[in-house]
Amino acid sequence: MNATSADPPKRRKGNLFIVSAPSGAGKTTLCRALLDHVDDIYYSVSHTTRQPRGRERDGVDYFFIPRQEFLRGIETGRWAEWAEVHDYFYGTARDILETELNRGRDVLLDIDVQGMAQLVRQYPESITIFIMPPSMSALRERMEARGTDTAAVIEKRLANAEAEIAARDRYRHIIVNDRLPEAIRTLIDLVDGYRRSNA
Ligand code: ADP
Ligand code: 5GP
Repeated sequence: MNATSADPPKRRKGNLFIVSAPSGAGKTTLCRALLDHVDDIYYSVSHTTRQPRGRERDGVDYFFIPRQEFLRGIETGRWAEWAEVHDYFYGTARDILETELNRGRDVLLDIDVQGMAQLVRQYPESITIFIMPPSMSALRERMEARGTDTAAVIEKRLANAEAEIAARDRYRHIIVNDRLPEAIRTLIDLVDGYRRSNA
């Protein structure tokens, strides 16, 4: 059926950009740079049961909530996706995500591979991006330099990184974060390209 002038204008749905990486690969740094350069993209603030790290703020970096509240949210269908990562729960609130997408806003999510797989089932058009560290030694150095995790936590995250990196082929795009300015440019160009073609 053809659209007629009497039909209300179709509002396009926003693009869903899903970024994953092993901890320390530079995902937060890259996402912040992207948000600084690109207008009108909503960064999905996840809920987590872990404690704030460094300068993280509630409602900005994460919504930090008690474990009981998270578990209740699983029962009530509050999460569009959720996963247990490094002993803590992480999830994306369904109502916030759907409100933004239905308003036609693009959404950027920084979530792990389990969450990516759950969202791609619900939103097959999702644009999935995996950030790779240039090497495992660089990953270790970056976590040490960040200075926010204990040695034991770093060892655990490095052990998990192997499995996370093994999932990289499940993503549409892979960006190696070696030299930071180049990786930022690549991410911005990629996101801009999709936004222009779906405008
Ligand atoms: P993630 O969010 O993936 O855990 P971060 O963005 O917190 O990682 O980055 C981890 C550390 O590595 C930070 O101290 C950050 O400043 C640094 N970093 C990020 N990208 C690079 C890069 N390309 N080269 C060197 N250091 C980097
Ligand atoms: P961190 O504790 O380092 O901030 O994050 C640990 C891991 O949890 C990262 O891989 C990050 O992408 C993932 N993560 C953060 N928020 C969410 C979320 O809402 N859902 C899922 N599935 N993973 C998340």
